[in-house]
Amino acid sequence: MAIVEPVTPQNGSGPPRLRISSPATRETIGDIAITPAAEVRATVARARAAQPAWNALGFDGRAKFMYKALKLLLAKQEAFMDVIVRETGRSRVETIMMEMFPACDSLSYYAKRAKELLADKKVPMHLLRTKKLLMTYRPLGVIGIITPWNGPFILALNPAVQALMAGNCVVIKPSEVTPFSSRLVATLFEEAGLPRHVLQVVEGDGSTGAALIESGVDKISFTGSVRTGRKVGEACGRALIPCTLELGGKDPMIVCADADLGRASSGAVFGAFMNNGQFCCSTERVYVAGEVADAFTHMVVDKVKKLRPGTSGDFDVGPMIWPAQLDIVERHLADAVAKGATVLTGGKRNAALGGLFYEPTVLTNVTPDMAVMSEETFGPIIPIVRVGSDDEAIRMANDSTYGLSASVWSRDDARATAIAKRLDSGSVVINDCGITYGAVEAPFGGRKQSGVGQVNGETGLRGYCYATPIISDRFGMKEEQVWYPYTADKGKLLQKIMKWMWGTPLGRLLS
Ligand code: NAD
Repeated sequence: MAIVEPVTPQNGSGPPRLRISSPATRETIGDIAITPAAEVRATVARARAAQPAWNALGFDGRAKFMYKALKLLLAKQEAFMDVIVRETGRSRVETIMMEMFPACDSLSYYAKRAKELLADKKVPMHLLRTKKLLMTYRPLGVIGIITPWNGPFILALNPAVQALMAGNCVVIKPSEVTPFSSRLVATLFEEAGLPRHVLQVVEGDGSTGAALIESGVDKISFTGSVRTGRKVGEACGRALIPCTLELGGKDPMIVCADADLGRASSGAVFGAFMNNGQFCCSTERVYVAGEVADAFTHMVVDKVKKLRPGTSGDFDVGPMIWPAQLDIVERHLADAVAKGATVLTGGKRNAALGGLFYEPTVLTNVTPDMAVMSEETFGPIIPIVRVGSDDEAIRMANDSTYGLSASVWSRDDARATAIAKRLDSGSVVINDCGITYGAVEAPFGGRKQSGVGQVNGETGLRGYCYATPIISDRFGMKEEQVWYPYTADKGKLLQKIMKWMWGTPLGRLLS
């Protein structure tokens, strides 16, 4: 049974519908109508009409709605979590950690700081000293936000908050796998009294996402797979609109010989199995120094065996959220085993539980030609590789088409930082993992095929704006030197200035 299935519309008419079922119990959750392309366009038009008034509220006026939403979220978090847990199957603790906590931080952080981060800034001019420069940040207009299923609430809410605080209206197209969790973002802001059409949701599959890109939005904020990211990038190119593409990862973890193995092994287990590995910054490859590899691997296996699968009460790992992803996990495992990998624990579906459960799996004897070492698994498998030196670990970590995040584990901060600086990765964490997206001050994005552009914090907010320079005269002069008429004397004067400016020590100092 698929977790997302097409269903015949009631009475045989109306837009096509999709039925969503629980990945944990396979019970039907509900169904959604696919928003027709014409309605997507009309939604964007309504957002555009609402945007000037929303922008006119100013930062303080907009922040009031974020604070109201924050208060409501704190009050209603249990009800919100009921929806998210039903749709994702994960534990409540993980849902608090991955969705509720960062959502509260996002609402508060940007409400509090957007005004300062996007304030007009006077910038001193190094050359045109008779001028002054004022940098201003204006909203782009209407932002289309297309999101995946693995963090269905936070990955819709967080970009929306940033775009809204910058003065834009937003239209969200959530994943068809988890539409009810993403719909909560609209519910939250509606209850917070957000003016009509400032934040809207259109629902459906890839066709709805494609329609959104072509519906006249001013930017697309996309989070999802490399395969879809490419299509989104191409479509945005055709529409001549900017986009950020937050795509997949194959995050390496480097464990040096001097690492605290207790902490590193716990970090490896958490980094690989949090959200059942369905996390863009999951630890997907471990490179461990040969002299500590056996001890480290033993600790990891021991801790993985203690992970508790479940569907209710206290448990650590839930089901896979999407059947197609479970197929990928099974393909990677079969390919690895066929090519000589050793399964130390796990390696099969968990038949005891009815849903899409797969046993947390540890692999050794893995080689770069295995899919599990080169493609994004996005599931509960952790392959461990023994390396002979830091250089070898860096070379292997960088030998990937992905470059989202990475982690380095060592007691020597200088050594870990030196390794971090040599990794082709959007971000690196030392002695921890998977925290960059939640570290709001840190720009988040991927190198290589892991994405285009960065989100969050000052970078993210500015990305939802036109940076518009306003240059004006400081002294109110009647004429500029270079204006007409052109004369030989004017040319000579400019050459004299050039000679002094870049041909003398004092000039170079001042230029
Ligand atoms: P996906 O690419 O299949 O779908 C993402 C979204 O794009 C969905 O809403 C989908 O309906 C929509 N879509 C599909 N085709 C489209 C098209 N032609 N035009 C416009 N939209 C279209 O990804 P997924 O399977 O939902 O999510 C898992 C992927 O997301 C993984 O690769 C994961 O690494 C990645 N991800 C990345 C980040 C990050 O910040 N870098 C965060 C979370 C997830």
